[in-house]
Amino acid sequence: MFSSFIPNIVAAILSVSGADTLSVDRNVVDPTISLIEHIHSEHLITKAIDKQEKAEAEEKRLAGIFLQELKVCYHGAHQNIPAYDKLHTIKNFKPMIEINENLSLATAPVAEGCLFSGFGMRTRNERVRLHKGWDIAHYNPVDIYAAGAGKIKESEYHYQYGKMILIDHGYGVYTRYAHLDSIPEGLTEGAIVLAGQIIGTMGTTADVPVGRHLHYEILTGKYNEQWGSFGLRPVNIASPETIHSQPENHLRKTKSEPVRFFFTVKPNKKRA
Ligand SMILES: [Zn+2]
Repeated sequence: MFSSFIPNIVAAILSVSGADTLSVDRNVVDPTISLIEHIHSEHLITKAIDKQEKAEAEEKRLAGIFLQELKVCYHGAHQNIPAYDKLHTIKNFKPMIEINENLSLATAPVAEGCLFSGFGMRTRNERVRLHKGWDIAHYNPVDIYAAGAGKIKESEYHYQYGKMILIDHGYGVYTRYAHLDSIPEGLTEGAIVLAGQIIGTMGTTADVPVGRHLHYEILTGKYNEQWGSFGLRPVNIASPETIHSQPENHLRKTKSEPVRFFFTVKPNKKRA
């Protein structure tokens, strides 16, 4: 065995990592360094496999929580709806969008519901305004899930959004969930939530009457103390790659803090 003529530290490493499976290139002048590098590189490969396995397991777990197919509601006035087929199933629906290798977000963070209004300009009370997210409806107060892991930045009542939650996912990415019926106890500002964790039930809260639905937004930018989450830039959920070409006039900006991007969106890119 090599252990009789190599330093103790390498002998120790060999003893925990299965020395018999390792071979030494006898042409290398310093076998100690060569062995350490060899063990190190093997360890890195194992870590890389673990990471991929974990990512795949997480993907599978979330696929069991979030809607994997989204239908357009049969009732209601549809606006800004992506293309759908005869069965009202949205074509090319992507349940998750990958923001970066550490963050993916659900596009419909519910297990049940149908889409009745999408992202884009729409007319309400004779005013044309940007609808900043997706409206997903259900007859019952079904559960709403965190679209990705993060920290709750806002958990409050807003006259237009009703009971609402804003999650900070890091990387300058946020999600908003509005008109909730109820929010579980403890989900106040600063609480950490996991992807797929229940953060409320679908409701009808707001100062104006609204049908039961979730108003869901994906937002980017720098959280602005003056405007709060209303200083953030909404992302077109159906085509997040168009993020850079959204209408500027709907953004509230301050002179000192222009809207900036902290990441690039790669919609549903397959993991390498
Ligand atoms: Zn809405």
